[in-house]
Amino acid sequence: MRVLLVEDEPQLVKEIKDFLRSENYVCDVAQKVKDASENLATNPYDFILLDLGLPDGDGLELLTEIRKFQEMASVIILTARSEIDDKVKGLQMGADDYLSKPFSLLELKARMHAILRRKSGLKNSEISIDGFLIDFSAKAVSYLGQEIKLTSKEFILLQFLVLNKNRVLNRFQLSEHLWGDHLDDEYQSNYIDVHIKNIRKKLGTYASTEWIETVRGLGYKVKI
Ligand code: CA
Repeated sequence: MRVLLVEDEPQLVKEIKDFLRSENYVCDVAQKVKDASENLATNPYDFILLDLGLPDGDGLELLTEIRKFQEMASVIILTARSEIDDKVKGLQMGADDYLSKPFSLLELKARMHAILRRKSGLKNSEISIDGFLIDFSAKAVSYLGQEIKLTSKEFILLQFLVLNKNRVLNRFQLSEHLWGDHLDDEYQSNYIDVHIKNIRKKLGTYASTEWIETVRGLGYKVKI
């Protein structure tokens, strides 16, 4: 999952960035409206965490661009402002949620999970597919109670496919979610195939993994 953090307060930037990275999100930071615009025009994001009071303008200005260029992105407004107007305006302009500062990082995480669940139509933080249980909060996969050890990259990949169930994701999209801006250094198109092969092998010890489909010439899809 790739996140753009638009925030100008250095301490908060550091805390959120470190936290998201420890949760295996890829996190880009923009401290000004101008920088955020550049990020929005170049990279696809799953989440945009948007501060409103920025040194060169109002974060709300970015919502129009976000809606235009970032169809997949969920937006959470981070605001110190107590004015109800800004929150209402933000939500009307397409933000998915807002958090009032100060907030706890665990609350941020919970809100992000809630949005992901809502968007993917999942009611809980876990999903069961053909006997496999994938638990997004615990970052764990099991089959009939037996834990299956996946590496963090394998889990992120599986989670991303499951959250986008019934949609084909190409290798580039999948790679971007694993490596983000570091893609250029690490990217090799067969990395994804290797990870998928390993996931299938580990899960396949227990039961069929036919629900993880290879779509020839395009990429992969989880069919539920
Ligand atoms: Ca600010």
